[in-house]
Amino acid sequence: MFKTAVRAARPGALAVRASAKPSSSSVRAFSSSVRVLSGGPPPPSLVGPGAKPGTVPTDLEQATGLERLQLLGELEGVNVFDDSGLDASRLGTKANPVLVPSFDVERIVGCSGVPADSHDVLWFTLKKDKQARCTECGSVYALDYQGEEHHAEHHH
Ligand SMILES: [Zn+2]
Repeated sequence: MFKTAVRAARPGALAVRASAKPSSSSVRAFSSSVRVLSGGPPPPSLVGPGAKPGTVPTDLEQATGLERLQLLGELEGVNVFDDSGLDASRLGTKANPVLVPSFDVERIVGCSGVPADSHDVLWFTLKKDKQARCTECGSVYALDYQGEEHHAEHHH
């Protein structure tokens, strides 16, 4: 099928070559574009369809990105985000902090000590590449960043 496509393109390419002298790479470019078009299904869309005219959009209609991913997950009964508690079996230290998985460059963390609930929940912001320490019990936390590096740079 590939060869057929290139062969079909050839008369046209030759005709162009006579006047504009394109390099032989123009034929290759054509065949690679055929390969792209015959590829797999498009990636799932994380952009909602929007509201119908004259109506107020629902969250499902207007949510995009991670929020949409979460809503679509809920429809399927899947919890997209891990909202289970952090490791409260030990006190985090500078050398061995409690890791907080995150797709964003910062997360708000609530510490209630070791074991859990041994002090009132203390909330603080944990940032990528910067450990945070609970001022109540001294447990040290670090962000376990799982997002894309180039995406993180836009936040600086
Ligand atoms: Zn604490």
